[in-house]
Amino acid sequence: MVSPMSRNSEMARAQLLCEEAQNLVEVARATRAMIHAQRRLPWRRLTQLARGGSDQHRIEAETEERRCPYCGEKTVSPVGSVVAANNKIRIAYRCDGCDKRFVFLRTPIDF
Ligand SMILES: [Zn+2]
Repeated sequence: MVSPMSRNSEMARAQLLCEEAQNLVEVARATRAMIHAQRRLPWRRLTQLARGGSDQHRIEAETEERRCPYCGEKTVSPVGSVVAANNKIRIAYRCDGCDKRFVFLRTPIDF
């Protein structure tokens, strides 16, 4: 049989966890709203274009080695786009040798 004392402490603990969960939901909601607002800022797109982004959908070469798939150059620079999908991390790079863009595919260790 559960004593009334331990039942009270379980109730208090459950209530505390519930309040913590509600706080986390609120924080997550606020963060989502903030990110959504930032995405709609007009200068954000300009910043992406300045970094080498483009409106055109293009097919970029993919490689699992961090070297240029076109010329083999090992000196490459990240252009700021990192996307995780299908158990892979897709990191956009630009070759310092031939200036072409490509995607470096990495398998995350934790997946
Ligand atoms: Zn290259």
